Amino acid sequence: MNTDILVVGAGFAGAVIAERFASHGKTVLVIDRRSHIGGNAFDELDSAGVLVHRYGPHIFHTNAPHVEEYLSKFSEWKRYEHRVLSSVDGKLYPIPINQQTINQLYNLSLDEEGVAAFFEKVREKRTPIRNSEDIVLNSVGRDLCDKFFKNYTRKQWGLDLSELSAAVAGRIPVRTNSDDRYFTDKFQRMPAEGYTRMFERMLDHPNIRVELNTEFQSVRNRVCVEKTFYSGPLDAYFNFCYGKLPYRSLSFRHEHFAMKEQYQPVGTVNYPNDHEYTRITEFKHLTGQSHSGTSIVREFPQTDGDPYYPVPTSENQALYQSYKKLADAESATLFIGRLAEYRYYNMDQVVAAALLLSSKILNQTK
Ligand code: FAD
Ligand code: UDP
Repeated sequence: MNTDILVVGAGFAGAVIAERFASHGKTVLVIDRRSHIGGNAFDELDSAGVLVHRYGPHIFHTNAPHVEEYLSKFSEWKRYEHRVLSSVDGKLYPIPINQQTINQLYNLSLDEEGVAAFFEKVREKRTPIRNSEDIVLNSVGRDLCDKFFKNYTRKQWGLDLSELSAAVAGRIPVRTNSDDRYFTDKFQRMPAEGYTRMFERMLDHPNIRVELNTEFQSVRNRVCVEKTFYSGPLDAYFNFCYGKLPYRSLSFRHEHFAMKEQYQPVGTVNYPNDHEYTRITEFKHLTGQSHSGTSIVREFPQTDGDPYYPVPTSENQALYQSYKKLADAESATLFIGRLAEYRYYNMDQVVAAALLLSSKILNQTK
C-alpha cells in the first residue's frame, strides 16, 4: 500500500496534520484503533438523543488567534463559559477559589482587597515552588488546600500533591475578584454542531483516507510512506523498551435521566472529598441543547485502561526524556499530541503544536 503520509490517531493532532498535508497535495492515510474519529474529543448522541462527550467534558478555550481562525474553517461556534462548583462538606462553592468562595465558605463579606489580605494571612510562603503542594500552599494555605485540592488530587492521580509538578495544580488559578469562570481565555466556545462534525469536515478531503478499527502494528510494515505522524502513547511505539511510561486512565460512567430538565446548577460539579469519582458533568449546560431529559457523566480515575493523561512527576519526565531521545533519532516518524509528546496539553495547544509541526515539515520539503 502506498501513501505519502501515514497518520496514527484521528484526534486533534492527527486531524490537523492530515488536513494540512492533504491541502498541500499529499496523499494521507489516517488510522485509528477506535471505531470513530475525534480522539478524546469525540461526541455523539446518546440513546436518548442528548449530545454527550464519550470521553469526558471538553470545553474549547484559547488565547491563540491562529488556532481559533484555523478551526473556524471547519465549524461555527456557540458561546459557552464553563463554571464549576466544588462540593465541600455538603455545600457547593465556586472553583477556581475566588472572592465568592472565600466569603461563602468562611461567612465573610470581603472585597477584593480584603480577599488579597486574607490570602496573605493564610498562605504558607514557599520558595522555590517545586511541586503542586508548594503552589497551592503558597497561594491559599493549608485549610483551602485540604478542602479543595489535597483529596481531589490524590483521587485523580493516585499521588500526593507534593509528588506532582507545580504545573498540575497550577492549571487552577486563585482569584481575589469574583470571576467564577473556569477559564478566562479570550475565546471560549463550543463547536456549534459538536466536535465530531468538526472532525468530519477536517478530514473530508479527496487526498485523505480514514481507516478505523486499525492498529498501528497492523499497518506498520505494510504501508510505504514518506513520513509517519504518530499521536499514540510514546512507550508503545518503542515496544516499552525502557519500561512503561505512566499514563493516568479514567472510567466514564454515563447516565441519562428522562423527564428531568436539569441535574445540577452548572456544567461540572467537583467532588474533592467524597465518592470515588472526581466530578460530574451535565452536558446540556455545555452544549445548550434543549431536551426534556438530561445526561451526565461521572469520571472515575484509574491506573489501568486507555491512556488519557501524562502523569507529570520528575521521575516520569526523566523516563520520557529517554524515550524522546529515541523519538528524535527516528528520521521518518514524527511524534505529536498529548500522548506522544507526553504533555498535559489542552485541545488548543495540540492544534497549535500540530500546525507548527506541519508548517515546519512542509517548508522543509518545498
Ligand atoms: P487523542 O485525542 O488521545 O488522540 C489520539 C488517538 O490516537 C486516539 O483516538 C487513539 O485511539 C489513537 N491511537 C493511539 N494509539 C494508537 C495505535 N497504536 N494505533 C491506532 N490508533 C492509535 N482539553 C481542552 O482544551 N478542554 C477541555 O475541557 C478538556 N477536557 C478534557 C477532559 C478529559 C477527561 C480528558 C482526558 C482530556 C481533556 N482535554 C481537554 C484534553 C484533550 O482531550 C486533548 O488535549 C486532545 O484531545 C488531545 O488530542 P490528541 O490528538 O493529542 O490525542
Ligand atoms: N484540582 C483540584 N481540585 C479541583 C480541581 C482541580 O485539586 O477542584 C487539581 C487536580 O490535581 C487536577 C488539576 O488541579 O488534576 C487540574 O485540574 P483540571 O480541572 O484542569 O483537570 P482536567 O480537566 O485536565 O482533568
